[in-house]
Parts: sequence; structure tokens; C-alpha cells
Amino acid sequence: MSHKLQIIPISAFEDNYIWLLHNGKQAIVVDPGDATPVIVALNTLNLQLQSILITHHHHDHIDGVKALMQAFPNVMVYAPSQEKYSFKHASVFEPNIIQFEDFNHHNKPLSFSVINLPGHTLGHVAYYAKGILFCGDTLFGAGCGRLFEGTPAQMYTSLQKLAVLPQDTQVFCTHEYTLHNIHFALTLEPKNKALLSRLTDTQKLRQNNLPSLPSSIHLELCTNPFLRCNTREFQRAIQQSISLNSTDPLNIFTTIRQMRNLY
Ligand SMILES: [Zn+2]
Repeated sequence: MSHKLQIIPISAFEDNYIWLLHNGKQAIVVDPGDATPVIVALNTLNLQLQSILITHHHHDHIDGVKALMQAFPNVMVYAPSQEKYSFKHASVFEPNIIQFEDFNHHNKPLSFSVINLPGHTLGHVAYYAKGILFCGDTLFGAGCGRLFEGTPAQMYTSLQKLAVLPQDTQVFCTHEYTLHNIHFALTLEPKNKALLSRLTDTQKLRQNNLPSLPSSIHLELCTNPFLRCNTREFQRAIQQSISLNSTDPLNIFTTIRQMRNLY
């Protein structure tokens, strides 16, 4: 097996990231909404595209797939079983495991577990390997995806599945929304110290045009309001900040998700 796994972001459109994993020879990309920047990155690094992982059916996550299949005819595409796609692909759903023999991860072949995450879309999935999470538009830095197809209860349950992953898991989100999300989160928890220091850290990164991602499950548990609805600390904070007197996590989640839509 080749050398250690590298993961790099490829910027696309206004604020998308297409994540590229490689072992020095072969590559896997996640949610290629645009083929052009992917092909540029592959050529620059002299990599062969082996596989594509798709988290959900939105255009900014899939529109580069067909061009990449033409450029790399042997590429394998994996996409959620509960959504329709017009390109050839292997359908995946929880608890499928996808193994990549050519990619060494902690001295074993890289293997991703598929996690079903209905909410943003009904078929949305994430791909999880030890220490690595590709969560599409479900979890964002200090935020979460909009509910285009699912119910608040579905999204809340999906986020809770991510909340229990090991805290050192790196979270590779597909949009650079972190700073705006932090500003919203501060309206709910203006005294959260972890959130205030994340604001400073994120501002520095963005001023230098660097991604605010990957994040970690630990950082999200400390700062992401959508993962904090079940904590007493957060419930006390929103009693003061927005006069919401509730200890029901789903009720809180539903309320703050609606507020975020308007923020
Ligand atoms: Zn989406």
C-alpha cells in the first residue's frame, strides 16, 4: 500500500469544498459539484481518480460526476440508495461498508461506514472512517443544513448520530458557512467561551483565506447550537438570550433551526 492518506480541500463555486483524499497515486473525491477544479487538482498532484463518494443529490454536489467519469472511465461512484441519479453508480445505505484496498489508513485498508442521515434530503448519507467524517450538508461548522425534505425530528436524530462519534473525529463539511454560523450561535450563547474563541480562530483563518474546516466532533459539541439542544448549559443560555423556556431538545432544535433560516 502507498503512503499515508492526505485530505485536501478543493474550492468550488462560491463556498463549496470538494474534499480530495489521496495516497500519492490514487484519489477519491467527495461531492464533486464541478469537474474542472477537480481535474486541475488531480493533474497538479499527478493523481488517478479511483472513486467518487456522493452524500446527496443536490446539483452543487453532483454536477461534476459525468465529466469526471468521462475523464476517468474506470472510476467507481457511490451514491445513496434512496435517491435517484442519472449516472452509473453503486447504491449505498447504512450499514454498508466500502473498503478501499489501495488506501492505507492506520495500517489497514481505508474503510468507510455509510450512515443514513435524513433531514437536509431524505436519502442523505455520510461516510465515516476512523477519525474522518464526510457529512455533506448535514453538519456544518457551528451549524447544520436546511431542512429541504426531512422533518426537524429526522434532522435532530441524524445530528445525534454524528454527536456520538469519537470526539477526535475530523469533520469535513461541504460549505464554508462557519463564520456566519458562529455569529448566529453567539446570539443564542453570547457567553460561551469555546464559541468566542472559535470566533477569533475562524476570523484569523478566513482573513488569511484558509478553510475553517475540518472541524472536530469535540469542537462542534462545545460550540454548535444544533448539537447542544440537550445540554442544561445551552437551555439556561437560551432562557436568557431568546426567552425560550424549554427543556425539550427537539422543540429547541425546531425553534432555533427556524430562527437560523431568517438570520
Ligand atoms: Zn445540499
